[in-house]
Amino acid sequence: MLVIGSGPNGLTAACRLARAGLSVLVLEAAEHPGGGLATVEATLPGFLHDTCAGFVTFRDSVPFRELALPVDWGLAEIMSTHPAPDGSVAAVSTDLALSERHFGDPEDGRAFAELARFHARVEPAVLDFLGPLPAVRPAFAIGPADGLRLARAYASSSGAFARRTFRSEAARRVFPAMGLHVDVGPDDAFGMPLCWMLTLRATTAGFAVPRGGMAAVGRALLADLTAHGGEVRCGARVARVEVRRGTASAVVLVGGERIEARRAIVATTHARSLFLELVEQGALPSTVVGSVRRFRPGWGTFKVDYALSGPVPWADELSRRSAVVHVGHSVDELARFTSQVRSGALPDRPYLVVGQQSLVDPSRAPEGQHTLYAYTHAPSTPDPTAHPGGWAAWRDRLADAVGARIEELAPGFGERVLGRAIRDPGDLERGNANLIGGDLGGGSNAWHHSLVLRPTPLAFRYRTPIRGLYLGSSSTHPGPGVHGMCGWNASGQVLADL
Ligand SMILES: Cc1cc2nc3c(=O)[nH]c(=O)nc-3n(C[C@H](O)[C@H](O)[C@H](O)COP(=O)(O)OP(=O)(O)OC[C@H]3O[C@@H](n4cnc5c(N)ncnc54)[C@H](O)[C@@H]3O)c2cc1C
Repeated sequence: MLVIGSGPNGLTAACRLARAGLSVLVLEAAEHPGGGLATVEATLPGFLHDTCAGFVTFRDSVPFRELALPVDWGLAEIMSTHPAPDGSVAAVSTDLALSERHFGDPEDGRAFAELARFHARVEPAVLDFLGPLPAVRPAFAIGPADGLRLARAYASSSGAFARRTFRSEAARRVFPAMGLHVDVGPDDAFGMPLCWMLTLRATTAGFAVPRGGMAAVGRALLADLTAHGGEVRCGARVARVEVRRGTASAVVLVGGERIEARRAIVATTHARSLFLELVEQGALPSTVVGSVRRFRPGWGTFKVDYALSGPVPWADELSRRSAVVHVGHSVDELARFTSQVRSGALPDRPYLVVGQQSLVDPSRAPEGQHTLYAYTHAPSTPDPTAHPGGWAAWRDRLADAVGARIEELAPGFGERVLGRAIRDPGDLERGNANLIGGDLGGGSNAWHHSLVLRPTPLAFRYRTPIRGLYLGSSSTHPGPGVHGMCGWNASGQVLADL
């Protein structure tokens, strides 16, 4: 068995196949395994930064449960805060009483706590939708009344849902901010499922922080794989998948080495790479090629990591205890950010996901000091008329705007910065071929690229039109995130077919 890529999906796929007794070789382009599970000293010695994923919402996903990964998970007291300079804040916590007390205003607090209790009741059935589609059993398990309530919420844009559910701006900015982890803007039709899942999962499972860094999750998966006879080969970029008589027969590495695929190949590359670059021309039906060409990329991601002499001096006291702080002061501001990025402009007031892993895991920084993780979105390539010189000319300015937004909420932040590392969309893609244009979502997460439409309705169950070739990256259902479900589902399909 060959698996291409050693991110969370490649490794869960490989572990499942190896545990089934198959001989598994994982081919990884980078010099280190793990893909999005990476932790490095990006700024200064002794400061450990997660280069991609920082938080795990699904540490109880099917693969993580089945593999019983020995990861030491940490949880902050608060998962997410949404502060603004006017002193208003909404906080999302596994402690519902805390969220109820701090969610904009008392009435919004009660409304949020009621939503969270409803979610906790339906969550087991909702999580079953992360398995292979179509998901008939969970649809029946939810029942008509709860199903209707969910359907009404899911059919909304996050902005519309927020406006009709909450009265205060602090409460209203929470759900739309979660959609902007990927490319789901506040006014986007059917934007709510992802916003619902990220916000309300934070009240049940939390945003977990692996002690030692996200790389610890990769090491645990790798240990499971090798314990079952599997192997990862790094520095092995697959350039081509050979197809003979409609069956995937081998891969060819950059450099020319050919490796025979005796049973099957599970690619955890981006869908566009597999279907439009790696597979030989003419081996795929033109309908599939056309459909994958229409699989829109998500936005670019722009990341800044900081080494700090102390914790961030947030004016809002709750934010000093939160794993993640979202910066975006109103639904209107988030909508403006969305339209700027979509138009090719660099955002002047960037929305931010700010991660404070070292609050939970002191091993990330020297004693008393801290790391800080911040990302925003930006066009993969800025509009050349407005931004001549491209990223080389603009990356420092956007990083300054990121710092200014934190400073606005945490006066004195700049004085604590010992070092910063910037990665623009091009840097991200150069580090990991799956991050095309710096898109962290494996392709757009708009509704028309979700569920059975992901990456194309012609290949949504991990099989491709080529016998023995499967796709199991975040370009497939259920999409991005460190849950390993895409790879796990794909290898389940391989085992069923074998
Ligand atoms: C800045 C950033 C922040 C994020 N934050 C979070 C977060 O907090 N929580 C969360 O859950 N998710 C987060 N994510 C998303 C998460 O990292 C991804 O959804 C997840 O890693 C996808 O897993 P994957 O296995 O499909 O792909 P990846 O993890 O991207 O791994 C793919 C691997 O395949 C390799 N590869 C690609 N092409 C080839 C080839 N031709 N030959 C050989 N190898 C190849 C790549 O080198 C890479 O190692 C974030 C991502 C980014 C970039």
